[in-house]
Amino acid sequence: MPYCLYVRKSRADAEAEARGEGETLSRHINTLLDLAKRRHLEITQIYREIVSGETIAARPVIQQLLSEVEQGLWSGVLVMEVERLARGDTVDQGIVAQTFKFSDTKIITPIKDYDPNNEFDEEYFEFGLFMSRREYKTINRRLQRGRLSSVKEGKYVGSQSPYGYKRVKINGDKGYTLEPLPEEADVVRMIFEWYTKGEKQSDGSFRRLGVSLIVRRLNSLKIPPRKSDHWSPATVRDILINPVYIGKIRWNWRPDVKKMAGGHVVKERPRAPLEKCTIADGLHPPIVSNEVFNTAQDFISSNPPRPIGERGTVKNPLAGIVVCAKCGHRMTRRPYNQNGYPDTLLCADTACDNVSCSLHHVERGVLDALRDWLSEYKLQWENGENKDSSDAIVAMKEKALRRLDAEYTTLNKQLDNTHDLLEQSVYTTEQFLERSRKLSERIKKNEADRLALSTDIVADKSREEARKQIIPKVERLLDVYDVLPNAKAKNDMLKEVLEKVVYLKTKKGRWNNAADDFELTLYPKMPKSNK
Ligand SMILES: [Zn+2]
Repeated sequence: MPYCLYVRKSRADAEAEARGEGETLSRHINTLLDLAKRRHLEITQIYREIVSGETIAARPVIQQLLSEVEQGLWSGVLVMEVERLARGDTVDQGIVAQTFKFSDTKIITPIKDYDPNNEFDEEYFEFGLFMSRREYKTINRRLQRGRLSSVKEGKYVGSQSPYGYKRVKINGDKGYTLEPLPEEADVVRMIFEWYTKGEKQSDGSFRRLGVSLIVRRLNSLKIPPRKSDHWSPATVRDILINPVYIGKIRWNWRPDVKKMAGGHVVKERPRAPLEKCTIADGLHPPIVSNEVFNTAQDFISSNPPRPIGERGTVKNPLAGIVVCAKCGHRMTRRPYNQNGYPDTLLCADTACDNVSCSLHHVERGVLDALRDWLSEYKLQWENGENKDSSDAIVAMKEKALRRLDAEYTTLNKQLDNTHDLLEQSVYTTEQFLERSRKLSERIKKNEADRLALSTDIVADKSREEARKQIIPKVERLLDVYDVLPNAKAKNDMLKEVLEKVVYLKTKKGRWNNAADDFELTLYPKMPKSNK
């Protein structure tokens, strides 16, 4: 995100000007632009406060700036001194400090950078020298009280909107509410659907996904999360338990808790249990229905989905691997019982009519199929069928990446150039800003393109690597499988090489002659190309 400049005259500056010491604002602008040039900061806006009022209320430009800072539009603001932002009134200083702090916006002066969320904190109250801790606490309490009453009115008081929504000003009233962002809202709905109902299988049935599978789906679909570059289980879980999606406002969910650790005060934001939060009806529209949301809460609290194998001892070497061809549910082990039947593999869905079979037979079947698959795959390698065009594609992408790198250097040079042209008065300030904005846009796009491309190249290469590695893995499995000590070891090794095995048996038969009347479809763990 770009940076902006804020300049205003102090009373002392005005007096100096009266003595004929030159125009202050343009001098300050030059100093700050020079600073920006040295630091390679992209400047796309200059705010000049013309009126000489000391309070925020009397200064329209700072009001505009603060509202943009609050919305997180700027990485940072360049000023001559922090006091240029607020002087005099402690409440004003509190407002400025809080606004920068909550939106994590930097203040950059020729002497020092202020990062409101690192350096500051305790030190932060040196900000402008003024505010005593006591005053701050009073202001804070008042702010909190104000927030709570806003929450009760259904307004949204957070500085950042939750995923799926954007924060919008309420028409004709103070404060903010939320408006769904169609694309993100679809993702939220999809997460809830996957978690409560399931993902549609090729045969039309649904299979529920746990949090970690949802994370994988989102990442592989390249759906961008808000902050980091990939989805994490915590992010998805937080979405699933956030009542904002049924139109509620939740307050005090993660209150700051200060703790002493290693002689320092550290702040933590533990998640509070729902009953300790304030929940109010929001002014914003829901994204999911109450019914879906409540189902999700039931699943979250009663039965966190974990992969089979973590629940206890694995007794089934095929656990989590074999899937029913008819309904997509996992095939599970029914242990040996007193009727003398051996361990059986059957569909987890009791209504499904896929015929069960002895576990041992299916296990042997999987190994046989794996052996067949391996010899065919090795043959393909020898014939060079797998090398195909991947090397050429990687080379092409690497070339494109080098072009983007060169473009990046050029764009940055051009950005430096705009400063020079401004200094030489070739550009007016307006032309400078215009040009600087355009370059800033292009640099942003270039950065995104380079990131995407290099991620892609890394993925291509590791895919290629994995394709080769599966051969020795399967060979080793087939060698040692029968001497492995237990089902868990066998299961682990199979999972290393198999994504899943789809099982189908239509004919009912006696246990002992069921050796080969089922069909298995193997899905080896092959990195897929993402074309
Ligand atoms: Zn089934």
